[in-house]
Amino acid sequence: MAIRPLIFMFLLACNPPDHSEITGKQWYKGNLHTHSYQYPEMIMDWYKSHDYQFIALSDHNTLADKEHWKELEDSMSQVVFQRYIGKFGTDWVNFKIDTGKIKVKLKTLEEYRPLFEEKEQFLILQSEEISDQFEGKPLHLNATNIGELIEPQGGSSVSDVLQRNINALLKQRDSSNYRGGYDSASRGTIF
Ligand SMILES: [Zn+2]
Repeated sequence: MAIRPLIFMFLLACNPPDHSEITGKQWYKGNLHTHSYQYPEMIMDWYKSHDYQFIALSDHNTLADKEHWKELEDSMSQVVFQRYIGKFGTDWVNFKIDTGKIKVKLKTLEEYRPLFEEKEQFLILQSEEISDQFEGKPLHLNATNIGELIEPQGGSSVSDVLQRNINALLKQRDSSNYRGGYDSASRGTIF
């Protein structure tokens, strides 16, 4: 008769303390480098529904801040497009048929951000994979939580190329028009 309460108390005693309660800090799960070979909303939806709290889409030398149309070129892209329409509906998806081919307008970050972001739940960091090179060798750096596109800076050696790109990021971080939005102290990180 008295066994059940005893077992319950034992389980309570074995339960490890929540570290966040002790430190006042909290862990968040995220991905700081991914590419958008398909529609960014599909990627955001996957990460959010798999319990991630932040995500950085970091494509090569590009930000999702301009009008861009994607042409469906093969059967695989047709399949992905049908999934996209199925998930978000024709009211949201913007496409047209031009000279017999389907063209889809990719949403900008400004357009899709409100669909996913929630305070303390899910955050999107504007990011870029700065894709530079030296003597034909690719040199890539991920710039996370940036305000504007950083063009590849080039340079006279591997270290010079890397340093010039880092300097471009630091210059943007420190410029007066770069503040605002999220915590400015954490903006502009390079990996
Ligand atoms: Zn990459």
